[in-house]
Amino acid sequence: MQFIDIVGQAEIKQRLIQSVQTGRISHTQIFLGPEGSGALALAVAYAQYINCQQPTDTDSCGQCASCIKIQKLIHPDLHFTFPTITNPEKKRLSNDFIEEWRKVFTTNPYISELQWLLQLDEEGKKQGNITAEECRDIIRKLGLKSYEAKYKTVIIWLPEYLKQEGNILLKLLEEPPEKTLIILVAQDADKVIATILSRAQTLKIPSLKDEEITETLIKNAGIELAEAETIARVSEGNLSLANSLTGAGRSDYHDLFVDWMRACYGRKIDGMNIAIEKIIGTGREFIKSFTGYSLHMLRAVFLYQNADHRLIKLSEQERQFIEKFSIAFNNDNIEHITKALNQSTFHLERNADLRITFLNLSLYIAQRMIKTKQA
Ligand SMILES: [Zn+2]
Repeated sequence: MQFIDIVGQAEIKQRLIQSVQTGRISHTQIFLGPEGSGALALAVAYAQYINCQQPTDTDSCGQCASCIKIQKLIHPDLHFTFPTITNPEKKRLSNDFIEEWRKVFTTNPYISELQWLLQLDEEGKKQGNITAEECRDIIRKLGLKSYEAKYKTVIIWLPEYLKQEGNILLKLLEEPPEKTLIILVAQDADKVIATILSRAQTLKIPSLKDEEITETLIKNAGIELAEAETIARVSEGNLSLANSLTGAGRSDYHDLFVDWMRACYGRKIDGMNIAIEKIIGTGREFIKSFTGYSLHMLRAVFLYQNADHRLIKLSEQERQFIEKFSIAFNNDNIEHITKALNQSTFHLERNADLRITFLNLSLYIAQRMIKTKQA
C-alpha cells in the first residue's frame, strides 16, 4: 500500500512522511478516523514507508523486498490484530484469520467494520471480539526478535473492541521494545478505553471531501458525473459506503425505493410484504446502503418542497419520482419518517431482525404519509 493509492488526505500523508524523515516516529499512535476515511490504509502505507529500502520524499518505492512483502501483507515483522468471531473450528486469534484478512484488505483497503464481520459470519448474527488471548499474543509477537524490518509493527484495527482485557497491553503501549511501532486504528475515541487512549499519540484523520469521492468514483467505478455526485453526497465522506453504493445493481436502489414507497402508500400489507422481501433478499450489507439511499431521497423531497429546485442534483428518474410523490409528504412527516429510518438503521447494524424491522418501519411510514386522490 503506497500513499499514492490512498484517496485524498494530503496533509496527513505529509505529516507521516515528515515524522519518518525527521526521525520522530512516536512508538504508540492512534489513527482516529471515521469509517471510509482511509485510516487503516494510511496505517499500512505508513508501515511500508518506514520500512522501505528506497523511499522518496513523497512515497515508498513499491518495489523493494520490504515493500513487496508489505503490499501482500506477508512481511514477517508486520502484524495485525482485528476483531474476530470464534467459529466451530475453534479459531480465535487474528493470526488464525490472516488468510481472509489478506484477501479482503488487498482487494478493498476501505473495508468497513460490518463488511469484515460479515466476511467472518455471513448471517451477521455473531458479535466480533478482540480477546485477552489475542492481547497476550500481541505481546508475544512483539517480544520476538525482528526478522528483517527497520521497525517491527503491529496494527490494531478497531481497538473499540478491547474492553478490560485491553489493560493487558498497557505496559507494552507505554514502553514497547526498541524499534517497535504500535498503531491503533480507531473510529470512535469515546469507545476506546481511557487507559489505552492516554498512552497513544493521537492523529486525527478527517472524512473525505465530496469532490474527492466524486473523482474517485468516476475514475475507479467508471460512472457519470451526476451519479457520482449523488453518491458522494449520500456517503458523507465515507468511501466504504460510496463504494458499496456503486456496487452491482446501483439502479436497484431507486427501483426498490420506489416499490417500497408505493407499497407503503397503498397501505396493503401484502404489497408491503412483497416490497420487504425484495429488500431483504439483497442481503444485510446492501440494506445498510439502501437505508442511506432512502434517507437521501427523503432529504431530496424536503429540498424539493422548501428550496430552489435547481439546488438538488438528481438523476432524471429520481426527479420524476419526487415530483410525483412529494404530495405524500410535508415537513412534519418527513422529519418523523427520517427519524424512524435512522433508528431502524441503528437497529439493523446491531443485527435486529430484518423482516420485523422493515415491517414496523413500513407500517409507520404508511401511517404518516398524506393520502390524496392524485398519487
Ligand atoms: Zn520500498
